[in-house]
Amino acid sequence: MTIKKLSIIIPAYNEGNTIHLILDKIKYVNLTNDIQKEIIIVNDCSKDNTEFAITAYQHANPELNIQYFKHEVNKGKGAALHTGISKATGEYLIIQDADLEYDPAEYNDLLKPVITGFADVVYGSRFMGSNPHRILFFWHTIGNRWLTFASNMFSNLNLTDMETCYKLFNTKIIQGIKLTERRFGFEPEVTIKISRIPRIRIYEVGISYYGRTYEEGKKIGWKDGVRAIFCILKYGLFKAR
Ligand code: UDP
Ligand code: MG
Repeated sequence: MTIKKLSIIIPAYNEGNTIHLILDKIKYVNLTNDIQKEIIIVNDCSKDNTEFAITAYQHANPELNIQYFKHEVNKGKGAALHTGISKATGEYLIIQDADLEYDPAEYNDLLKPVITGFADVVYGSRFMGSNPHRILFFWHTIGNRWLTFASNMFSNLNLTDMETCYKLFNTKIIQGIKLTERRFGFEPEVTIKISRIPRIRIYEVGISYYGRTYEEGKKIGWKDGVRAIFCILKYGLFKAR
């Protein structure tokens, strides 16, 4: 399909230190086929200077199409994505965390299977390909692989990285799914629900990963891993759609 606009959904909670840097990276990436960018930022009730940083950036870059939304209470990454997804007007949308763990220069790699007409959904895998990956957290990697394995068992997909942030969706398709997980349970819920859509075409491409430490602002914790197992069982076993 011809794609004219990509919506970039950014959930942001206490990301005042990096939000302008990720916006700069997004600004400087030239999408292939003259695809336009729509940037949708959802401030999930940050307690730091995230809002100030966003408004300052908007004023300094009026030519960028930035839509700004905020939550009155902190609800979690999933809830921020629900808000962002509902506002998207591009034919495709991609999820972009507000930290610097993923590189917007790779949007074109994710778009490729869409532009060539093969994919409805593209996941960027941190466990595939020869791009740079920061070496960190052995047990997170084991956890990620195990969660991907469990999710694959229920979805009958052969993904290598279910928990990746870089997920690109046909906007109409993702807007047509009812999503309920408000925190990091978003990833298994969306993966299992997407897998159940008849004739859906899912692709994966290798991406880089510039992982950050907790000192550098990472928020996901072991409880989110437990929740992910629960979600895989809940959506994999018990929920039809
Ligand atoms: N986030 C959010 N609300 C929250 C927690 C996180 O919007 O309550 C955002 C956060 O600002 C970041 C993204 O969700 O842009 C992912 O968070 P993090 O980097 O801590 O998780 P990970 O990369 O480990 O999945
Ligand atoms: Mg992150």
